[in-house]
Amino acid sequence: MSHTEQSDVLERFLRYVKVNTQSSDADCDRVPSSDCQFDLANLLADELRALGALDVEVSEHAYVTAHIPASSGSEDKPALGLIAHLDTTEVAPGAGVAPHIVHYKGGDLVCGTVDGTDIKIGPDKLPALDALVGEDLVCTDGRTLLGGDDKAGIAEIMALVARIAENPELPHPPLAVCFCPDEEIGHGAELLDIPAFGCTYAYTVDGGPIGEIEWECFNACEVTVTFDGYSIHPGDAKNRMVNATNLFCEFHNLLPVPERPEHTEGYEGFIHIEGVSSTVTHATARYIVRDHDAARFQAKIDLMQRACDFMNARLGEQRVHMDIKQQYRNMAEIVADYPELIDTAKMAFETVGVTPNVLPIRGGTDGAQLSFRGLPCPNLSTGVYCCHGVNEFIPVSSLEKMVDVLAELVARFAH
Ligand SMILES: [Zn+2]
Repeated sequence: MSHTEQSDVLERFLRYVKVNTQSSDADCDRVPSSDCQFDLANLLADELRALGALDVEVSEHAYVTAHIPASSGSEDKPALGLIAHLDTTEVAPGAGVAPHIVHYKGGDLVCGTVDGTDIKIGPDKLPALDALVGEDLVCTDGRTLLGGDDKAGIAEIMALVARIAENPELPHPPLAVCFCPDEEIGHGAELLDIPAFGCTYAYTVDGGPIGEIEWECFNACEVTVTFDGYSIHPGDAKNRMVNATNLFCEFHNLLPVPERPEHTEGYEGFIHIEGVSSTVTHATARYIVRDHDAARFQAKIDLMQRACDFMNARLGEQRVHMDIKQQYRNMAEIVADYPELIDTAKMAFETVGVTPNVLPIRGGTDGAQLSFRGLPCPNLSTGVYCCHGVNEFIPVSSLEKMVDVLAELVARFAH
C-alpha cells in the first residue's frame, strides 16, 4: 500500500502521536498526573463511540473504557480485554511530535537533523536494523520521542475495533478495551475497575519489536538506606567524627559489582543505585532491587540487610537503616496457570507469518498488577524500537501486521 493511501492504523498512529500526553512524575500523587492525557482520552472515547462501542467512558482519572459485543454465536465466550497506555515518558521531550516516514535503505537510520547534527542510529548500536532494509519506518524529526510507546498499541487496538465495526461478523468474543494513564510513572492500570471491565483475560499491547510475547516480569522493590553520622570540626575529629558519606561508601562497596544493571541481562536480576545525597551528618541512598526469581530477589534484599547489620555491629550503634518498599511482583506466578494465553498469542503471530519471541520483561508492566488483581494479562509487542528516546521508530509493516495479529487473536477466543 502506498502511503499516499495510508492504512487506517497508520493514519491513526500519526494522528495520536501528535497529541502530547507526557505524564509527570512530580505530580504522581494525582491521576492523571498531567491534564493533557485527557486530550487523547476524550479523542479516543469520541472515536470509540463513532465506531459503535458500548459503555464508552472517560473516568475522572482519564481511564478510557469501552465494550464491544461478541460476533454472533460467541456471546457466551469469556470476555477478552485489550489494554494500552495513554501517556508517554518524560525522560525525552514529548510535546510537538512531528512524525515522518523514512524509507530505510540500510546504514545509519537518520530520523532528522537538529542544530546541524544528524540524529541517527546504526546497525552497530541496533543490529535489528539489518532486517529492516527496504522498510518504511515512522520516525521522529529528531527533537522528540515518537510516542510509539504506547500509541502504537492504542492505534493497533483502535484499528481492530474499526475493522470489527466494519465487519461485525469477524469472529470475536465480547471485548473490552482500556486506555489508561500514567503507566510510565508506575500507576498504569492501578485504578481500573476490574469487575466493571468484565473480562476473564486481557492482554496489554505495550511491547517492543513485532513478535514479542511477555508474561514474566521482575519482582521489584525500592530500598532506601540512611546513614547517620556525627559531625565535629575536622581538626578535632580523631576518634570522634563519624562521616555519613564514608558510611555510605563502605555500605555500597559491600554490594556485589556483578549484580549491577550494567553487568546483567536476560534473567539476571540486579541491585541498582539510583542516587545518593550526603553530608557528614547524614546520607540517603536510593536503590532499586530487581529479579525474576522470587528467591533470588529475596536473597538480594537479605544481602543488603546483612551489609547493614554488619556495619551497625562494627560501629557498635545503629547508624545504618534500611527501608524497603515493595513495588510489583513477577506476574509469571499467576500467568503460569494460564498457558493457553501464551499459546494462543503464539499461534496468532504464526498465522500472520511472524515468528513469536517469548521474552522475560526486564522491568514491570501493567499486566503484573492486573494479574495479581485477578485479571491474567500477558503483554504483546507493538512493533516499536528504541522507545524513550529521539531515535524511537516503528516499521509501518509492524503497525499493520499487529492489527492482523490482534484480529487472529480475538478470532481464536471466539471458538
Ligand atoms: Zn509502554
